[in-house]
Amino acid sequence: MQKSRMLRLAERQLSSGLDCVALVPGPNLRYLSGLTLFMSERPIVAFFPLGGRPAVVLPLLEKGRAAAMAGENIELYPYSDDEGPASAFAQAAQALGLDGKRCAVEHLHMRVLELRFLEAAAPGVCIVSLEEALPGLRLIKDAQEVEAMRGAIEITEQGLRSLISRPLIGLTERQIADRLAQELMRTGADRIAFVIVVSGPNGADPHRGPSDRQTCAGELLTIDCGVYHDGYLSDITRTFALGEVGGALVKMYNVVQYANAEGKAAIRPGVTAQQVDRAARQVIAVAGYGEYFIHRTGHGLGIETHEPPYIVEGNTLPLEPGMAFTVEPGVYVPGVGGVRIEDDVVVREGGSECLTTFPRELQFIS
Ligand code: ZN
Ligand code: ZN
Repeated sequence: MQKSRMLRLAERQLSSGLDCVALVPGPNLRYLSGLTLFMSERPIVAFFPLGGRPAVVLPLLEKGRAAAMAGENIELYPYSDDEGPASAFAQAAQALGLDGKRCAVEHLHMRVLELRFLEAAAPGVCIVSLEEALPGLRLIKDAQEVEAMRGAIEITEQGLRSLISRPLIGLTERQIADRLAQELMRTGADRIAFVIVVSGPNGADPHRGPSDRQTCAGELLTIDCGVYHDGYLSDITRTFALGEVGGALVKMYNVVQYANAEGKAAIRPGVTAQQVDRAARQVIAVAGYGEYFIHRTGHGLGIETHEPPYIVEGNTLPLEPGMAFTVEPGVYVPGVGGVRIEDDVVVREGGSECLTTFPRELQFIS
């Protein structure tokens, strides 16, 4: 059990008038309780009542594992396959006194399956959206979380270094992606989150998957990848030159590199998320590539690849120490190619710390 996180949850429940928070297996549950459980056709719901012991309705076969992970400060309501979940839900709802109470659930994660059991067990329960009632539950990262992210980033950077130490020109994007995936597992990834490899004109599509296109000298190669380490993610993009590339591509690269630097330089507590977006976007606009920067400057990073805070125009959230997010400006010119340089940053008192250390200058590789 993460005591400090549970305490913070209780404080926020109190101030937003929530009697209970009900979570399904996933990032929020793992964050609060350390319970790593998976969604299946057998429903699992964990209840966090204000001022009471957490309770989990779960299949009997998960009972031992859950007890080992969560310790004793949790009440388990197991159900067997033959009896089904209804009576376990009813017992939990009764013990927690859910009827007539305000209970927040994850609108983005809970399925109709769990919701129906919950409503049947406590017909008078008032269900509200956790995302709206308690926004940014995982917004401020503690030291342990930042260290897990730092570990994921080191693994990713080592993998990238090994990848580019061998010739890549002539391989297909798919072959490069495959080689990188192997390197990332070898350098210690618990799991690979994603690998994007795009070359030449394909680089103009920011999220295109690796294709069978063969890379050749004189073009740009963009690699965007992330791995899990201790439950946390890295997310790094670098664009490389395959051999010598033309001046127009080098200019495009330099603009993005400067935008990345200016975006990061804008970060400090009190500055809003949209100001960071503007700082990066301004550089690209002034250089005449404004219409080719077709996405937000960044997104929060942690247990999920994309989580708050979003670094985007319109987000007036003031940054606070401990917020972690990417800064990833890009320029994508159809038919020509693209450049993206993505770093992972944590807001600190008075400024920020860039967790990614991989070089940002254009590297000419073979
Ligand atoms: Zn990325
Ligand atoms: Zn990203």
